[in-house]
Amino acid sequence: MSDISDAEREQRINLAACYRIFARYGWDEGIETHISAAVPGTGAKRHFLMNPYGMMFGEITASSLIKVDLDGSVVGESQYRMNPAGFLIHSAIYGAREDITCVVHLHTIAGVAVGAQKRGLLPISQSALFIYNDLAYHAYEGSVLSVEERRQLAVDLGSKHILMLRNHGTLACGHTIAAAYWRMFFLERACQMQIQALSGGADVEELPQAICDRVMDEGKLFPMIGELEWPPILRLLDREDPSFRS
Ligand SMILES: [Zn+2]
Repeated sequence: MSDISDAEREQRINLAACYRIFARYGWDEGIETHISAAVPGTGAKRHFLMNPYGMMFGEITASSLIKVDLDGSVVGESQYRMNPAGFLIHSAIYGAREDITCVVHLHTIAGVAVGAQKRGLLPISQSALFIYNDLAYHAYEGSVLSVEERRQLAVDLGSKHILMLRNHGTLACGHTIAAAYWRMFFLERACQMQIQALSGGADVEELPQAICDRVMDEGKLFPMIGELEWPPILRLLDREDPSFRS
């Protein structure tokens, strides 16, 4: 990584850490699914970093991340290849939203299970309310995205930050890696809570929209979303296995 800027090196380390923490949670799915981050300073060209196809989340290092442009071409030298379906999902977001610098896409069991339920995420936990009004839905059209579906993906996300890909997986994005991490963390936790609550068999208490709005408004008091959560994650990974930095 000798020929890259300090800002790109920092972004690579944080992105590799994001892979490692989700692997630690067990939220990966073999070599499928992907997390990406924009390369700082690439402007409208929007080069972004993502995992090489064929590596698991727990193996990702800062130097193994592939750099690609919005046309799907690999930028610079890499011994690895790209996941084409992954590129299409992430480039759809970066092409439509200049405010986004990180996109997380997962296929967790709880996330897919809630996305398969007709009403989607229910307002039945505080964790759900943290992200409830920031959540949109995208209907399943097939395993390979067409150019038209890329457009629809961005239309469905609109100005929000979280997308439930029905019958497929979850997606969260942010203006920083920490913000995207924070949103995916609470989305996944809320999905797990919903599946547990519904499997209990008793009626569940749904909170009214006014309460959802209130919790989202209270969240605006903390605009540095994820910034407090991220440093302890780096410290945890450094204690356990700092190889993500290499
Ligand atoms: Zn997927």
